[in-house]
Amino acid sequence: MKIKKGDNVKILYGKDNGKQGVVLAISNGKVIVEGLNMFKKHVKGDGKEKKSEILTIAKPLDISKLMLVCPSCGKPTRVSLKRENGKVERVCKKCGKVIEVVVKEKEEKKVEKKTEKKTEKKVVNKSTVKKVSKPKSKTKKE
Ligand SMILES: [Zn+2]
Repeated sequence: MKIKKGDNVKILYGKDNGKQGVVLAISNGKVIVEGLNMFKKHVKGDGKEKKSEILTIAKPLDISKLMLVCPSCGKPTRVSLKRENGKVERVCKKCGKVIEVVVKEKEEKKVEKKTEKKTEKKVVNKSTVKKVSKPKSKTKKE
């Protein structure tokens, strides 16, 4: 995850292009940013008890339309992910500082099962490589 809840992000697309806001929620690659990409939704009443009203709701934005604003240098930036000891660090590509240690990968899997498919695949590949690693050489040594 390059963008997560609580991040300050800049929108690169649409009617709020160039504006910044805080990420409220993320699901399936869609991000809701506080106070941005607001749309009015007309809720019709039934003419009796229920009043018709206009709700203002934040529409989810595609994660690719956002850029993280680095808390260190204050610039919108891309981040690179660095994996170390089961933790994921996000590094600002502009100033090179670690933005934060995000989470232990296992914890993130529990919360974001669908979005974590890519990392799961990588982990599986590693373990299969280990299993495959030449049983012949072992028998020679022993
Ligand atoms: Zn930075």
